[in-house]
Amino acid sequence: MPAKSMDELVSLCKRRGFIFQSGDIYGGLKGMYDFGPLGVELKKNLKDAWWQAMVYERDDVEGLDSATIGHRKLFTYSGHVDTFSDPLVDCKDCKNRMRADHIKDGKCDKCGSTNLTEARNFNLMFKTHIGPVESDENIGYLRPETAQHIFANFKNVVDSTARKIPFGIAQQGKAYRNEIVARNFVFRVREFEQMELEFFVKPGEDEKWHEYWLEERLNWWAAQGVPRDKIDVEDVAKNDLAHYSKRTFDLHYHYPHGPDELEGIANRTDYDLGNHTKAQGEFEISAKVHANTESTTKMAMMDDDAQKWYIPFVIEPSAGVERGILAVLNEAYTHEDLGDGKDRIVLKFKPHLSPIKAAVIPLAKNKPELVAKAQEIKNTLQKLGIGRILFENTGNVGKAYRRHDEVGTPLCITVDFETLEQSPASVTVRDRDTMEQERILIADLPAYVVTKLSQ
Ligand code: ATP
Repeated sequence: MPAKSMDELVSLCKRRGFIFQSGDIYGGLKGMYDFGPLGVELKKNLKDAWWQAMVYERDDVEGLDSATIGHRKLFTYSGHVDTFSDPLVDCKDCKNRMRADHIKDGKCDKCGSTNLTEARNFNLMFKTHIGPVESDENIGYLRPETAQHIFANFKNVVDSTARKIPFGIAQQGKAYRNEIVARNFVFRVREFEQMELEFFVKPGEDEKWHEYWLEERLNWWAAQGVPRDKIDVEDVAKNDLAHYSKRTFDLHYHYPHGPDELEGIANRTDYDLGNHTKAQGEFEISAKVHANTESTTKMAMMDDDAQKWYIPFVIEPSAGVERGILAVLNEAYTHEDLGDGKDRIVLKFKPHLSPIKAAVIPLAKNKPELVAKAQEIKNTLQKLGIGRILFENTGNVGKAYRRHDEVGTPLCITVDFETLEQSPASVTVRDRDTMEQERILIADLPAYVVTKLSQ
């Protein structure tokens, strides 16, 4: 059963070193979080699983890793400078600031007053200056999404890979949004990571691909331990659609704070490449684009059948890493009653997501032979390249099991006195979920661990 409350997750994350409030030694920085020793592994594993499915296992997607500060023209022609804003409202009584579209019953969510200002648009982009001169010419923006750099590199990728439509460009990395209100732990933050695919298709084939990507993405989340029945697919109503979207599916996961967006899968039409292309007048662009006289590049492909250049449509599955981590943590969180007044908290992560794959534990920490054997086993397993193997020399096996349950380590391997006496030698392997213990020959351990972790 998932966690009962966000507080349980926040507390586990801090206690075990997954996620810390950023800048907490100075009172904390709202909307910013730092990933600790286990959080960094979990995040990496989730991103790797996405890359594996979206790039390596496909033959129609290329990767990209762009700069995170963008050219002012990139975000001007994309429409972000004019329209990437949320409606901001102030409470005249307690000075609380809120997003107008999140206000309930016209009342301040802090003091309940209805004495509120009119809504005004607040641009969410973080602005900076590039180089030493603080002039308008040198303005740059921290990217609010990874997508725009993908569009800007469309031709570079096509020309360097000889890709034909349909194909996609995938990117993961930081995005920055100066959210009016950051809340619900890492759900809504001001600095986060996205995993985005821009999949370029022929106009007319967009609807089919849009449905296809919805299925792919739901299946992927299920493989990460976030089952389909915990995700509501919202076919966003026409009047709620972003101005660039023909149709959007929002995946709403049942978070501890309620159902909320985990991923958006949008049909962005030819809006983006149409915005950034040179010679807009030469193409039949269906979207209402920003007139662009400054782009140096035509973002077009040749239709071999019609012998005509056209601007591709884009299907965009865009997921937040932090929101994914929150969903995965919530699903993995299990409070088990073990009978006899005993209980345990266990994170039942899919093994590929577990921050630590196996802990190797000598039964006693003051016995050099046990410690040396455990260290040797750790080194051998580490070389398999399956993620982090932890050498755990605390001398208390019971406590180590408890701790590793709580951080989701699938296997604990204990080296005991029998190990030293036997030939061929064996160790005890404890399974996180069943708590069953098996004796495994050290020689068989690498194959055993690899098999168990791939289940
Ligand atoms: P919301 O409506 O919740 O503000 P959005 O519709 O603006 O989100 P998109 O622009 O579609 O979000 O961004 C794609 C994905 O990036 C979202 O589905 C989400 O997972 C993630 N994301 C967006 N904003 C944030 C944020 N402030 N904190 C964490 N993740 C975010």
